[in-house]
Amino acid sequence: MNTPEFPNHMQQWVCLQCGYNMIGEMPDICPFCGARHDRFMAWDEAEKTYQVTSRPVNAAVSQLLSVPRLGLEHAAYRVETESGAVWIDSPSAFNRTLPAVDAILFTHHHFLGASNQYRKLWNAQIWLHEQDAGHRLATAFDIDHRFRDDFSAYGIQAYHVGGHTPGFTFYIYQDVLFICDYVFLTDSGMQFNPYGPGAATLQQAQRIFDIVSDQALKTVCGYNYLADFADWLPGLKALLPGR
Ligand SMILES: [Zn+2]
Ligand SMILES: [Zn+2]
Repeated sequence: MNTPEFPNHMQQWVCLQCGYNMIGEMPDICPFCGARHDRFMAWDEAEKTYQVTSRPVNAAVSQLLSVPRLGLEHAAYRVETESGAVWIDSPSAFNRTLPAVDAILFTHHHFLGASNQYRKLWNAQIWLHEQDAGHRLATAFDIDHRFRDDFSAYGIQAYHVGGHTPGFTFYIYQDVLFICDYVFLTDSGMQFNPYGPGAATLQQAQRIFDIVSDQALKTVCGYNYLADFADWLPGLKALLPGR
């Protein structure tokens, strides 16, 4: 199974509590969640333990998650576009047998997963907003495109809004919105992701609403959910001030 590009002496560790990948020498505690090193697994062991599993969303989009569940890992999405295959965000486990993508577009720096290994395996281009690429959790990861503004690539439209993180960017492909963890869906309704600056998250949500509300969208792909846009949008609207 080992390819020359991935010798077993290559050091990388996966935190089983959160899914963060630590590249190089093993630290004492996870820089993302603070778990102790007895909660870490070597990347090649994780590859055998965790199966990145795909579930269709529509004809062009599928959701990727590790089975069994890998800590706090957020769902990644595969998009088959006319100009190539793309992931939006990355699984935490490395599975070298997955079908390749040309690029990985990140919403933000929280769950970069094993993107460095997929980049190497497939020569995939990594996209992350400049302000998140500069974060300490991202420094060991190679980022090919440190974008600063909205952009379009592979027919996917990227909107930099900030808020949850300074570089937070959401994506739209055809009628699908990729919003990652900007909001949580709870039993009592939608709420903002509390793991970020509250005031900025609230303020930038208005921009998200303004961009998406007049688009003909059908599906929302979140970090642990799929939702109908028609159900999701009123939830976001209800969180905005003065409504
Ligand atoms: Zn962790
Ligand atoms: Zn996040």
